[in-house]
Amino acid sequence: MKVCIDPGHGGTDPGASGKDPFVLNEKDVNLSICLFLKKELEAKGHTVFLTRDKDIAVSLSDRAEFANQKNADIFISVHCNSFANNTAEGIETWIFSGSKSGKKLAEPVQKSLVATFSNHKDRGIKEANFQVLRETQMPAILVECEFISNPTQLKFLSDKENHEKIAKAITLGI
Ligand SMILES: [Zn+2]
Repeated sequence: MKVCIDPGHGGTDPGASGKDPFVLNEKDVNLSICLFLKKELEAKGHTVFLTRDKDIAVSLSDRAEFANQKNADIFISVHCNSFANNTAEGIETWIFSGSKSGKKLAEPVQKSLVATFSNHKDRGIKEANFQVLRETQMPAILVECEFISNPTQLKFLSDKENHEKIAKAITLGI
């Protein structure tokens, strides 16, 4: 299968920034998870395309267009969540509103993530009109791994071992 992996944000766009108990930018966590994800998927024989493999800014339309040009079978965007209330936590997966193929992909991925991280809150599958989900022509999901705004989860997201575990869980779901 051809998989397009999309590490959210990058370059001049840091995404959400965790500030407590230390500074951590979402863009760096997303990229690290996606590099592990590439490795895991390739080990399973999949062909992987990354919308970025370094710390650069890529527009949302370019990310979707890249996946379409590569004729990817599925599209996985990886993000970390953030909220004003720093107690918000959990893992959720987004699909384009009403997308049946997106849901079919999101369900096993979300299930695998919350099975791997059973002490994390399962926030379920949510629907939105996100540009990368709307403009991609293949089944597409956007995974929000945890809340970088939550001090406990920021520590979780700073740990490379967890990036690898997240990558393995997503791969298992796929
Ligand atoms: Zn993001």
